[in-house]
Amino acid sequence: MLNRVWLGAAIAGVLLTTEIGLGAEPARWAEVARPPKFVSTEEWGSQPDPIPDERRHTPKYVTLHHAGVLWTADRDPVQFVRNMQAWGKRRPEIEEPPRNTYWPDLPYHFLIAPDGRIFEGRSLDYEPESNTPYELTGHLGVELMGNFEEQRPSPAQVESAVRLVAWLLAKSELPLEAISTHRSVAKGQTTCPGRDFARYFNGDPGQFETWVAAVLQGEQPHIDLGPPLENGPTELITATKRKDK
Ligand SMILES: [Zn+2]
Repeated sequence: MLNRVWLGAAIAGVLLTTEIGLGAEPARWAEVARPPKFVSTEEWGSQPDPIPDERRHTPKYVTLHHAGVLWTADRDPVQFVRNMQAWGKRRPEIEEPPRNTYWPDLPYHFLIAPDGRIFEGRSLDYEPESNTPYELTGHLGVELMGNFEEQRPSPAQVESAVRLVAWLLAKSELPLEAISTHRSVAKGQTTCPGRDFARYFNGDPGQFETWVAAVLQGEQPHIDLGPPLENGPTELITATKRKDK
């Protein structure tokens, strides 16, 4: 089904370019607008160090993560993003091997807050960082704040992830098969992006891919997160309060 959608788009692209005489241009999805609630690096005050040229890459995959840290309602997403960037630059001083490698900028290209705000991180021109060994080149990392082993993502957060991934696929001319998760690229090493978010990638196609495909076809994604998993987390990230120690 989704392969056929992609093939259809490819054929439409070929017909279009043939009709206007541009020759063999790569196939493209319909125009996808940058998602709303986008917070640029300038807007949140990013202060990256330069990234070496040997880390340059060409995007081939969009890989989803969760932070793996319980999100509580008292936290500020802007501060969270700023702190992560500052921590990455200080890793050689404050972390033990093998986690003490220097990260000149955020490890992810985008970070999504529980209210759906999308924070722009590392430039798309550079490969990401990770604490689990896998071939990083070509991956665009999208992280959702929260720990989806213990809490559920909010509908706003998932909708922003869907719209962001669609925008990235269209921008980089990638097929739906380019969508992946941390646990599927670093098998056996992590549960990231957490069972209550990873569930939407199960199946072929997974629900997440179906929602992204809708956006790529200019339709509204009908996102329904469904009931909690059996023995899974029940609390929504936007309702999680800090526990008193
Ligand atoms: Zn991850």
